[in-house]
Amino acid sequence: MTTRVWDYLPEYEKERDDLLDAVETVFASGRLVLGPSVQGFEREFADYHGIGWCTGVDNGTNAVKLGLQALGVGPGDEVITVSNTAAPTVVAIDGAGAVPVFVDVREDDFLMDTGRLREAVTPRTKAVLPVHLYGQCVAMDEVRRFADDHGLAVLEDCAQAHGARHNGRLAGTMGDAAAFSFYPTKVLGAYGDGGAVLTGDAAVDANLRRLRYYGMEKEYYVVETPGHNSRLDEVQAEILRRKLTRLDSYTAGRRAVADRYAAGLADLTGPGGLVLPATTDGNEHVYYVYVVRHPMRDTVIERLKAHDIHLNISYPWPVHTMAGFRHLGVDRGALPVTERLAGEIFSLPMYPSLPETLQNRVIDALRDVLDRL
Ligand SMILES: *Cc1c(COP(=O)(O)O)cnc(C)c1O
Repeated sequence: MTTRVWDYLPEYEKERDDLLDAVETVFASGRLVLGPSVQGFEREFADYHGIGWCTGVDNGTNAVKLGLQALGVGPGDEVITVSNTAAPTVVAIDGAGAVPVFVDVREDDFLMDTGRLREAVTPRTKAVLPVHLYGQCVAMDEVRRFADDHGLAVLEDCAQAHGARHNGRLAGTMGDAAAFSFYPTKVLGAYGDGGAVLTGDAAVDANLRRLRYYGMEKEYYVVETPGHNSRLDEVQAEILRRKLTRLDSYTAGRRAVADRYAAGLADLTGPGGLVLPATTDGNEHVYYVYVVRHPMRDTVIERLKAHDIHLNISYPWPVHTMAGFRHLGVDRGALPVTERLAGEIFSLPMYPSLPETLQNRVIDALRDVLDRL
């Protein structure tokens, strides 16, 4: 059997009755757009985080874009973020008309190096966009202190960190607003596209509601500032309500998979060899992806294919090296840790319902491949 990095079908088999009931609930409700399911999900997702407001949107990219716009970021403003992220983080900054400015990441946890923020700030800087990559949080106390010192807004990119905690606080509760994706692979995934923005500020939330609804306060009303059509779909919202009640069990399942990898691979690690993901002090990791590192990554991945194991790389190209962002003028070599990591990281299969037999196959195959290197 081919081993895939991610697969939703085992989950669907387990949750089928509840998920189909969610679809039926919406179809039978008489409201297909911005109805009781979106409203209910927004309330429940905000409550899960103990925060005032949640606005459901159509996907995570637009959650970042609208989040920035709701915080007052616009054309020409600079937003400090990382290049070691999923491209949509940066696509969304560009979509808001703003200019991404990159800082390098830390060697140990691959996250924003907050010690470098000061070098990146200019008179045009408007916001900081930390990405809680792979399932654990950026050092948010340092981000907050830096942002307050410079009068900047903070938008957390939580697309990979549903339920992750930093010093006891949930991802999404530590900035001025926080963007989530519910793309199916995410820790809380819909059965299609979805996203949301959390905020503790009623005025920011009001901006978000207008931005996702053409720029209107309500139906058949005037547009003061043109917005978008970025509504969360009612069917996806109802599915997300059901799945939100199981979020903590999903993250527990992911941690159990991570523990089994660590137990099965720990003796292979060492300098110049395999490096397993490190959880930074104060963090509770939710393992959106299980990213390991090896200096001979390409050879390892190639040889695993002979075992019918096909792995992903999150992410093979730092965003600043992509053709679409070359105009930013960030040269190769400018972000040495990010660039080095991109050549060495790869992801092992990870999802809460990953069958133990498949996980053992991955461990055995990796042991075999590394033994023969
Ligand atoms: C998935 C992801 C996004 C974009 O989410 P979509 O729902 O696919 O638009 C943004 N940022 C990060 C870090 C992501 O992983």
